[in-house]
Amino acid sequence: MVVRPVVGVLALQGDVREHAAMLERAGARAVPVRRPGELSEVDGLVLPGGESTTMSRLLESFELLEPLRERIAAGMPAFGSCAGMILLAKQALDGRPDQQQLGGLDVVVRRNAFGRQVDSFEEDLDFTGLEGGPLHAVFIRAPWVEKVGDEVEVLARVPETPAAGAAAARIVAVRQGPVLATAFHPELTGDERVHRLFVDLARG
Ligand code: GLN
Repeated sequence: MVVRPVVGVLALQGDVREHAAMLERAGARAVPVRRPGELSEVDGLVLPGGESTTMSRLLESFELLEPLRERIAAGMPAFGSCAGMILLAKQALDGRPDQQQLGGLDVVVRRNAFGRQVDSFEEDLDFTGLEGGPLHAVFIRAPWVEKVGDEVEVLARVPETPAAGAAAARIVAVRQGPVLATAFHPELTGDERVHRLFVDLARG
């Protein structure tokens, strides 16, 4: 029998429902996580898109910051999209000085990297390890990854088209062991391949 892992969605802010729906379609049982007790019961955790500075503050006031750091350090599978990627990064550029990092990913990200004039855009990406052709990706005030450590696997980059400008070849999806992150929002496109990849990680 295929195991149906329990995957939490950090439910402090952001697009929690969309992730929960995709996780269920991808074969997990999705549960909201707002308290340390709920965190301790999940096999993996999704950190949704939203606003990383707000989520950072809420993690502190809900007393989730340290428990979450501890679980990530202990190897819990985690998947961050957009703001979630920023939270998982070891370092965030253009963040707020008091913004907290969870540190599951040895990467440096830049917040709102694509610039104010391109608030959001869509692009088809080659995504390492996903079968079935390119992945349609929706970027909303997205970060990009500026630097990766030796342990980090780059899964996707912005294609090098003339229109891409400074965004060409920027890293937008990474994995380090059980920690996965995308600068874009796979929960918004109806293509559940990235969530399946994560549910497999959560299955261990
Ligand atoms: N710009 C946001 C931040 O810094 C992320 C945007 C998003 O998650 N869609 O957190």
